[in-house]
Amino acid sequence: MTGETITRCGHELDAEYLYPADAVVLELYEMSGTLRVRLAVPCPECDEAVELDTRVERTATASVEVPLDDSEDQYD
Ligand SMILES: [Zn+2]
Repeated sequence: MTGETITRCGHELDAEYLYPADAVVLELYEMSGTLRVRLAVPCPECDEAVELDTRVERTATASVEVPLDDSEDQYD
């Protein structure tokens, strides 16, 4: 069946065409004691938003600036 409305993108995502700036983090949550991340990226083929759900395998200190707007919790 070929309709005009794409309800589900079946394209395979190619890392070569995925950019961090296009990704949107939808949710960070915990499931069975494991941290999980839900994010959306635009499909390089059809521009449909594709939702990714991934498990955090490893954490390390990052050398990037992250927005910290939790100003209520001040240390000095
Ligand atoms: Zn697609």
